[in-house]
Amino acid sequence: MIDKKIGIFGGGQLAKMIAIEGSYMGLHFNIFDPNPFACGKSFGQNFFNKEFLDQQAIDDFFNCSHIVTYEFENVMSDFFLPYTEKIPQGIKALQLLQDRYTEKNFINSLKGVKTVNFQLANEDIKIPKPYIIKSRRNGYDGKGQQLINKDEEVDSRFLNENYIIEEFLQGTSFREYSIIMGRSTNGEFANYQPFANEHKNGILHISTIEKIQDNIKQLMIDKTKEIITSLNYYGVLCVEFFVIDNKVYVNEVAPRVHNSGHLTIEGANISQFKLHILCILGLPLPTIVTYSNYYMVNLLGQHIKPLKKIINNKEYKDVNFHMYGKNSTINNRKVGHLTFQDTNNLLNKIKGVIK
Ligand code: ADP
Ligand code: MG
Repeated sequence: MIDKKIGIFGGGQLAKMIAIEGSYMGLHFNIFDPNPFACGKSFGQNFFNKEFLDQQAIDDFFNCSHIVTYEFENVMSDFFLPYTEKIPQGIKALQLLQDRYTEKNFINSLKGVKTVNFQLANEDIKIPKPYIIKSRRNGYDGKGQQLINKDEEVDSRFLNENYIIEEFLQGTSFREYSIIMGRSTNGEFANYQPFANEHKNGILHISTIEKIQDNIKQLMIDKTKEIITSLNYYGVLCVEFFVIDNKVYVNEVAPRVHNSGHLTIEGANISQFKLHILCILGLPLPTIVTYSNYYMVNLLGQHIKPLKKIINNKEYKDVNFHMYGKNSTINNRKVGHLTFQDTNNLLNKIKGVIK
């Protein structure tokens, strides 16, 4: 249908799922990742197994791709400067969002919902405990974070300018949501209903579409639109929110498709991966319909064994299995996910196995 070559920086599961969707549309993919075992590598026609700092390889990659997208935010933006016209997501998102400190200042400079209180870790600590120390760069899945309840828990190695400290929210009403929104280069916007996300040890565990108060939903959608527009960003983007006692905060922004949107593969009329492709190609966006009672449960390295119990079991026949094909299974590292509609008590049964 569309004879275009799309380059993807990063060759993990997100690249794989983008390439699978794109292949149905007749698209071809170049995939760039320094990891020779990147699980998305065989889903592109060309695999650039090069370092992200290899300017020559980056030049070659852009030269043989009509359009380039990125599936994670920690790629060098300076090297992309000569090619910004080929990157619908742009580089402003990379420049601002690679560092939690500049990210949070950017979020708070815009209209609408703000972040929780935060500060640099090398300054006088003004935030009351409990607080959370986070590395400014390269953190994901809760890595590089330390929750502090008492002074003696503070590791002084973290009290420098490479870390921030932020207020830690807790309480029975605490909830996490994400808004996944697409913006096509033709000017259209489309978003999914808010996803309600449950994390365990800082890692996403379960996502579902949950009905929430209209005013809270509207605040989240408005803020996401504000962010996507101010970043001059085209493509799919995700904003994570915290809600507590009816107050809404932005947690962080992911300039890419997002784990909390994986349930859209079967749980919506269009997956976030296809939506992303339509956006970066400037195609019209469909009206999004999400199906009720759909869930996504993440699979981590430690779940491989228990998973064997359900894969051959008839009780789980309506579950969709998505395995990423990673070459190693490490505890607390994502290896796949399940999606399913919660009928016949399926959610509870799965919760009993995938803990
Ligand atoms: P990452 O980039 O690793 O996803 P996040 O800042 O999103 O880092 O933190 C991961 C998870 O840790 C969040 O989704 C949330 O469950 C928890 N968390 C992080 N910061 C806070 C906070 N200030 N208050 C409450 N929970 C938090
Ligand atoms: Mg997060």
